[in-house]
Amino acid sequence: MRIAVLKEGAAGERRVSATPETVKKFTGLGATVAVETGAGDTASYADSAYADAGATIGSRAEVLADADIVLGVQGPDPDSLSGLKQGAWIVAGLNPFGERARIDAYAAMGAEALAMEFMPRITRAQSMDILSSQSNLAGYKAVLDAAYEYGRAFPMMMTAAGTVSAAKLFVMGVGVAGLQAIATARRLGAQVSATDVRAATKEQIQSLGAKPIFVENVQGIEGEGTGGYATEMSDEYKAAQAELVSSHIAKQDIVITTALIPGKPAPRLITDAQIATMRPGGVIVDLAVEQGGNVEGAVAGEIVEKHGVKIVGHKNVPSRLAADASALFARNLFNFLSAFWDKEAGKPVLDEEIGNAVRVTQGGKVVNERLLG
Ligand code: NAD
Repeated sequence: MRIAVLKEGAAGERRVSATPETVKKFTGLGATVAVETGAGDTASYADSAYADAGATIGSRAEVLADADIVLGVQGPDPDSLSGLKQGAWIVAGLNPFGERARIDAYAAMGAEALAMEFMPRITRAQSMDILSSQSNLAGYKAVLDAAYEYGRAFPMMMTAAGTVSAAKLFVMGVGVAGLQAIATARRLGAQVSATDVRAATKEQIQSLGAKPIFVENVQGIEGEGTGGYATEMSDEYKAAQAELVSSHIAKQDIVITTALIPGKPAPRLITDAQIATMRPGGVIVDLAVEQGGNVEGAVAGEIVEKHGVKIVGHKNVPSRLAADASALFARNLFNFLSAFWDKEAGKPVLDEEIGNAVRVTQGGKVVNERLLG
């Protein structure tokens, strides 16, 4: 069983899909690992550290030769995979909805592609879930990015020259990223409030010492939606939410938005008119900017200023913490492959529940029901 670790090709991608730690663990299972030259450079993992952990280092062609499993953070460019064996696995965050042509190309080349973002949200798969591990770091970094752009302090400070009041920070969308954003903002001393469409998050917000801001008297999602995900809300709910947000947002210094709906564009949560009510110097961080954006006027990869408020739209936020993001991503991949490792076969053999969820191509075809429907 030969595992290839590729150097990421996407612009701005600094992460890597294996670390010296996971290389060592894979070799412990009896696999051989080949790492493309410089794969870990941007995440602070040197070729020599991979070699010390038992990997061989080589060119793309060398690491792909005879590879049974190819690991990536993002899906590799199909054109860069010439020579890949029929039936070899490609295991990465493949962005199947956004990069459909790429998925079709993997099918055409006879690869078995496994999309890690399709990991089911079940207890035994928690340690394999790249969306959780990366969202956690993104939520943390979003608050630091906001603090960096904000021309005022976060905590209340009583000084001889007078008092600095605490920043008011509002988190919209309290999934994994939102919860970490709340916790981080609290640690920095901000006054934090938060909202979500899922009623289950109310208690979670309170348990972190933040104030829940919820639409009352209109049906939201009671408890959890399918797999804990949100669905699109009714027009009535959207109108009530917009009204509530309008009055709340006018009093906020910082807003962090994280709201996503799987397979759909991100819901629009903040309009230009609402931004105009914030006081100058405010900061909005839109973590959903690459999925269409929660904030009107947000631009992916840019910081724009509207009505004196900065709208931060960094792309690929986990990559801004490349070393830790890689360490967690790499462990997710190891936890996934090792959980299914068949000692006799010397390779992973997936079970039906998880295999059917993550497998997107097999036998020359696109096979995942989420892509066929
Ligand atoms: P996500 O990234 O899909 O969405 C972020 C948040 O935005 C969600 O909380 C969602 O409810 C919210 N949202 C969507 N539309 C909104 C709107 N119009 N207004 C306000 N908020 C809106 O979600 P996520 O971070 O992946 O997590 C969702 C849930 O799934 C959490 O409860 C999490 O704990 C759970 N989860 C479970 C597992 C597991 O068991 N393996 C793994 C990951 C997440």
